[in-house]
Amino acid sequence: MPQTYLDPKTALEHLKSYSRSDGLSVSELMDSKVQGGLTYNDFLLLPGKIDFPASDVVTESRITRNVVLKTPFISSPMDTVTESEMAIAMALLGGLGVIHHNQSPEAQAAMVRAVKRHENGFISDPVVLSPTHIVEDVLDIKARLGFCGIPITDNGAVGGKLVGIVTARDIQFRDPSTPLSEVMTTDLVTAQQGITLSEANDILRDSKKGKLPIVNSSGQFISLLARSDLLKNQSYPLASKNPQSKQLYAAAAVGTRPSDRDRLTLLVEAGLDIVVLDSSQGNSIYQIEMVQWIKATYPKLEVIAGNVVTREQAASLIAAGADGLRVGMGSGSICITQEVMAVGRPQATAVYAVSEFSNKFGVPVIADGGIGNVGHIVKAIALGAGAVMMGGLLAGTEEAPGEYFYHEGKRVKAYRGMGSLEAMEQGQAAKSSNQKSSKYPAPKKASTVENAATSRYFSESSAVKVAQGVSGDVQDKGSVKAFLPYLYVGVQHSLQDVGVRSIAAFQKGVQEGAVRFELRTASAQIEGGVHGLNSYTKRLFA
Ligand code: GDP
Ligand code: GDP
Ligand code: 5GP
Repeated sequence: MPQTYLDPKTALEHLKSYSRSDGLSVSELMDSKVQGGLTYNDFLLLPGKIDFPASDVVTESRITRNVVLKTPFISSPMDTVTESEMAIAMALLGGLGVIHHNQSPEAQAAMVRAVKRHENGFISDPVVLSPTHIVEDVLDIKARLGFCGIPITDNGAVGGKLVGIVTARDIQFRDPSTPLSEVMTTDLVTAQQGITLSEANDILRDSKKGKLPIVNSSGQFISLLARSDLLKNQSYPLASKNPQSKQLYAAAAVGTRPSDRDRLTLLVEAGLDIVVLDSSQGNSIYQIEMVQWIKATYPKLEVIAGNVVTREQAASLIAAGADGLRVGMGSGSICITQEVMAVGRPQATAVYAVSEFSNKFGVPVIADGGIGNVGHIVKAIALGAGAVMMGGLLAGTEEAPGEYFYHEGKRVKAYRGMGSLEAMEQGQAAKSSNQKSSKYPAPKKASTVENAATSRYFSESSAVKVAQGVSGDVQDKGSVKAFLPYLYVGVQHSLQDVGVRSIAAFQKGVQEGAVRFELRTASAQIEGGVHGLNSYTKRLFA
């Protein structure tokens, strides 16, 4: 008997005769009674329909109650990952860097200040000198802070009468002892207080000067505009900035000991926007009290609490007032927590379990640890995370602390867990990390350095230190300024394959069951990797 076929034109219509869409919904995928705990490698997203270019995909995402980033990338607070250079680069590129606390509070505050000073709208607290200061004072500011466009007021302070300006050209070839009154430019292009930023930018552009001082009607100096900020604004359209001040967002980690309150006070004075409470098991009375204290003391500071991997842990911290949650226990690339403590959770399951709960309260989740490629980022976001936090993936970049060296013929940088014995023995080394940030030197008198690594892993009172991380190295990845755009475009392409135009649409699609998943067997994982070749090179982007 000849086989009869359906009319091809009815193919789309025919889909409706199936009781369910192809693949699994997220809740079917994550049903741990059936599958057990899942990692990112245990599943895939199914493709959808493409009717837009990848470059249209919007990766904007909420990382705390009140902070939205244009890209969902955060660097870990680890002493081999995030100091000010990384934090500035991450923020310029649309992400965020969390400055580690395995260093003195003063050194950490200096790094926060460097991030906040890097880009500005109106610079409201510019460095000002008086006519009696000398050229050497300007050179000193240049060496410490990186700029030398200095307004000169009669009393050497903001609010004094503006009498001149000194920039690099004015002090070139001058004897360091020359008073500024002899070198400053005095016929100034200025703008009046109350002018909008864009009007001021127009004046700055047209004046062809490097700086535009803003004065009030009595000629007192109020604030400053820098031409280089117009350029930064143009060069980094995704930058993570406070909408009012146009300064980059600064984030830093602290512990939950009483002394961390003093540390936090210094960081807030330096302009901190977001604090990360750094603990491997966040559901503790110490952390709950710390969250409550911070919310009462600094109501404008965003608090990311954690780490957690269950909804019960999350509930404690949400109730205490957390604005965001960091999720992951034992999934980090340098981490041996699950092996040693027998505590933790496979990361995909942890991210889903916590975000399914916390998103109901408007508290975003940061998927922390175990991110090894673009696909892992997309999967974390599919499971409800607002952003991912990366250590190992960024540790080999130029902006990470430390120097490159060669290991077995490969150019590498050191990368170590904050719970490794090496990091826990850091008390002494933390002081050298203070010196290392010589670009933004802290005051000379460093207070006693608390050992951040031991507090994160609750080893401080034990005679025996139990390691929860290892120390090793990772391969050179070039500059974050090339690597982060690769991650960004990679995520855009992935979402295009799924058929969604934004992270918001992606997460909505997952919740509503329109975005579908598939489990991967062990052999499917082999099939999905490169296989069957004699040899190959893996270049990820160009
Ligand atoms: P300069 O010409 O040497 O002053 O340096 P640039 O204008 O090239 O760069 C100055 C950068 O430092 C800009 O991004 C400013 O926003 C930033 N900055 C932060 N605080 C200050 C400050 O107090 N004075 C000046 N001149 N720049 C500051
Ligand atoms: P450069 O970056 O070293 O070339 O310095 P600038 O372009 O900032 O400044 C060039 C000259 O203009 C120097 O003599 C400055 O003192 C002067 N100058 C800089 N900013 C201003 C300003 O806002 N108003 C005026 N009138 N002069 C300025
Ligand atoms: P990665 O991106 O390298 O996979 O993981 C980075 C994350 O691992 C960090 O953000 C932090 O949460 C976690 N981590 C850092 N150091 C240690 C450690 O020594 N032990 C454990 N268990 N986790 C660590």
